[in-house]
Amino acid sequence: MACEKEIKEDDIVFVKMRYPKQKGFTEIKAYLNNEGKFICEDCFHNKS
Ligand SMILES: [Zn+2]
Repeated sequence: MACEKEIKEDDIVFVKMRYPKQKGFTEIKAYLNNEGKFICEDCFHNKS
């Protein structure tokens, strides 16, 4: 979690990640679990 704010249910979240070279959604989902950083909407707009 890159964001210090606690993300609540129904909040809009953004995932900051490098797009993987692998194709396919399953791979992307696995990649996201390992490499993805979840940030809230505020952080997304403040730091880019
Ligand atoms: Zn945040």
